[in-house]
Amino acid sequence: MRTVYIADLILTGAPQESIRNGAVVVNEGKIEQICSVEEIQNLGDGVEIKEFGEGSTLLPGLIDTHVHLAFDGSADPVERVRSADELERLAIMLKSARELLSAGVTTARDLGAPDLLDVRVKKMIDSGLARGPRMLTVTAPLTVTGGHCWFFGGECEGVDEVRRRVRQARREGADAIKIMSTGGNMTEGTLPSEPQFTLEELIAIVEEAHKYGMKVAAHAHGAEGIRRSLLAGVDTLEHFSFTTADGSMVEDAELVEQTAEKGTYVCKTICSGWGHYISEAVPDDQMRTLMDRGVQVVAGTDAGIDNTPHVDYVYGLEGMAALGMTNDEVLYSATLKAAASIGIAEETGSIEEGKSADLIVVQGDPRDDLQVLRNLKAVVAKGEEYVPEFHSETTWNATVDAPKYVPELTVKEDVISGV
Ligand SMILES: [Zn+2]
Repeated sequence: MRTVYIADLILTGAPQESIRNGAVVVNEGKIEQICSVEEIQNLGDGVEIKEFGEGSTLLPGLIDTHVHLAFDGSADPVERVRSADELERLAIMLKSARELLSAGVTTARDLGAPDLLDVRVKKMIDSGLARGPRMLTVTAPLTVTGGHCWFFGGECEGVDEVRRRVRQARREGADAIKIMSTGGNMTEGTLPSEPQFTLEELIAIVEEAHKYGMKVAAHAHGAEGIRRSLLAGVDTLEHFSFTTADGSMVEDAELVEQTAEKGTYVCKTICSGWGHYISEAVPDDQMRTLMDRGVQVVAGTDAGIDNTPHVDYVYGLEGMAALGMTNDEVLYSATLKAAASIGIAEETGSIEEGKSADLIVVQGDPRDDLQVLRNLKAVVAKGEEYVPEFHSETTWNATVDAPKYVPELTVKEDVISGV
């Protein structure tokens, strides 16, 4: 049966494009037609009409290009996942998936999970056994021995070995490849400022992945890891924090320029767990500066990491705006541009005939105020409606005024621990 969604305003997802008093016709999981309200009568019988009324806005389902379903967003998600057995891990991941959907996220890319559980969760969602966003998976992130997130099982080294590891990920069901090009905050014994793979290894990984049409996402904090990842030709740079050995963040203008020139997408993973710190540690116009230099910024939150529940997705968008992006830019980065960055713009990311019926309806116009994205009136993923079960308690406006939380970066014998 066809379902027709009628809203006061439709934001198609293409920049600056909107339709007043339009209707979106959904049939068998796809957007069949976009028409005027008057044209609905031509559709004939067997049509269910859902009208959302005055002040409602229909827009594409939101996209989170960087999540971890296996992390539960608690104070210590790494310990939680390490001490859980496989069944418990699966339960955590299924809950995370429903949290994302509860925030209006209809597509998410999982950038690292244990035991191939991301592939299993994706299959469960695809087959209708579980509810969740459309998932893209990477299986275990590629890392060096003892490197960042080694406990996911993706350790590999040397040009031949890393090529083999890419092929293995593909065989095991990965849609994309994640590489840990620097250390990270969550793994003891690694430093965010330090590079991990050599340039030769990175080039081999990217070559091999691209051969199979797989995108490569590089976790990259320190400048050297960012530089090598860029040279190797990765598709997205995650975090892009320019973290130095003492934990401060100092942008390298030349690398930013090269990133813009190459058109490599950047996901800054602004999220509720780091919001206080980010608002303290980076300039208020940080995102504006990146945009003005021509960097292709996309939305992604690292959902699941410390103090970052998956349902807090909109917080990251509010943060991007607070750091200088316009609401229009943020919405584009969270829909069509995000879809392009992960290679699925043909399938989703905008309200277009023939695309998957991934849409949300909110009360209010998110171009005026991103907070209205929290007032969800409908969530539709691949044509299936979902009633949100979880609600986010954290908003950027409410928390930036709260007492500032600064993560403890304790440097001990070359080991950084803490957040
Ligand atoms: Zn991550």
